[in-house]
Amino acid sequence: MEKIKIEEVSKIISDRIKTFGTKVQLEETGSVLSVGDGIARVYGLEGAMAGEMVEFQNGSKGVVLNLEEDNVGVALFGTADGVSEGDSVRRLKTINSVPVGRGLLGRVVDALGVPLDGLGPIEGSEKGQVEVKAPGIIARKSVHEPLQTGLKCIDAMTPIGRGQRELIIGDRQTGKTTVALDTIINQKGKGVICIYVAIGQKQSTVAQIVDRLKKNGALDYTIIVSAPATDPAPMQFLAPYAGVAMAEWFMKNKEHALIVYDDLSKQAAAYRELSLLLRRPPGREAYPGDVFYIHSRLLERACKLNDDLGNGSITALPIIETQAGDISAYVPTNVISITDGQIFLESDLFFSGVRPAMNAGQSVSRVGGSAQIAAMKSISGTLRLELAQYRELAAFSQFGSDLDEATQKTLRRGKVLVEILKQPQYAPLDVALQVSILYAATKGFLDKYDVSRLREFEVGLYDYLKSSHAAVLDSIRGGAKLSGDLEEKLRQAVSDFDLRFGA
Ligand code: ATP
Ligand code: MG
Repeated sequence: MEKIKIEEVSKIISDRIKTFGTKVQLEETGSVLSVGDGIARVYGLEGAMAGEMVEFQNGSKGVVLNLEEDNVGVALFGTADGVSEGDSVRRLKTINSVPVGRGLLGRVVDALGVPLDGLGPIEGSEKGQVEVKAPGIIARKSVHEPLQTGLKCIDAMTPIGRGQRELIIGDRQTGKTTVALDTIINQKGKGVICIYVAIGQKQSTVAQIVDRLKKNGALDYTIIVSAPATDPAPMQFLAPYAGVAMAEWFMKNKEHALIVYDDLSKQAAAYRELSLLLRRPPGREAYPGDVFYIHSRLLERACKLNDDLGNGSITALPIIETQAGDISAYVPTNVISITDGQIFLESDLFFSGVRPAMNAGQSVSRVGGSAQIAAMKSISGTLRLELAQYRELAAFSQFGSDLDEATQKTLRRGKVLVEILKQPQYAPLDVALQVSILYAATKGFLDKYDVSRLREFEVGLYDYLKSSHAAVLDSIRGGAKLSGDLEEKLRQAVSDFDLRFGA
């Protein structure tokens, strides 16, 4: 008995002796060769990986972007003030990550997840990797639930589904941000978490957006990631990935998230700046060759997960700013090809008072149709057709004076529809009410009124239906087909109101 114990002990001791001292803790450190413009070249980090975090002697951090033969290029987060030539640099051996979780709701953070709103630290300690591989095909399911924007023109003609990527594109000051904000405001009570990533905007603009969301009671379910124009290029480049990492946490927890990237043109510009500083060869429009990849790997992460993975989703609304309406420039074409459709906003329309300034002819949604509620689907076909006919004739009718009756009727209807699709900002509309007014317009109830009275009709109809025909609205909202009994009830209700309004 005694003997065995002694043998065991001696074996343990001899094993320990055998392996003693073989494990040496190695930490790779390098030194700064040069630093400037937010970029440091570091010598001696041969083992560093692209996208890895490093720490400088003064405690500031950076991310490895360029791997070259004798040095690596590191983009600094923050200023280069405390970093100088010869400083040591330590590999952190982790990919950049940000805090994720419910504690972020209602908060404003920067691209590293550091709070900017002065409301104290973020609650919860979970971290999410900023760069991860997007879910593959097997993990996904096709888009089938609607994500209502509350904007008539979009919900009717370019419907968006949960898990879809729909681009908002247009010149500056055409209402791009407003479309995104209205969509966020409309998610109230619908169980969709919203993330608004502001890239390269003025700090005051971001403050106004936060204020606007707060006023509309939308901040409670929204996270703001802000990398304003004053932030260094690496932060503006990273912000969208930080935002989607936060969205992924909700998706994995079987929830629905909506993420707005406002805007990716500025992210591309930040990436171009970084790349040129890193001396990568410039290509078309001076962008590096892989500018497509920064957007594709970001937007691929928008997804509708399958039932086994809990059915969560991330819907993405990237925004792109065009120059003089040129959607065929390099970055716009890239992003158009990555997304599932685009909402094209036009300056001419915007200034002529058609707001939202959506160009119905050039805007498409490739997958959202299958997520549209039945009643809206049956109306939207007619709507698109009548608007297209109107556009075609409107160009001609500017020259002709006497037009036949059919042409006049089409023009008249088109004018009504254009008027009815207008919508004030920050007033997203319940989908059942949208159906009711579009029904009234496409069935010809409004043709007899002067265009200037239509807004009054619209508001009156909503009040009337809400107070006297709530059941009809409920059925429409619930996804019932607009035929037979339901259509008859809606027709009757609209006609009753019409009689009263016209009297
Ligand atoms: P930028 O290019 O500067 O980011 P943008 O395209 O995001 O601009 P917004 O900031 O959304 O445009 O809107 C520009 C202006 O138009 C704002 O003052 C906004 O209040 C106004 N606007 C936007 N949409 C509407 C609308 N539906 N009705 C009335 N005004 C609107
Ligand atoms: Mg904007």
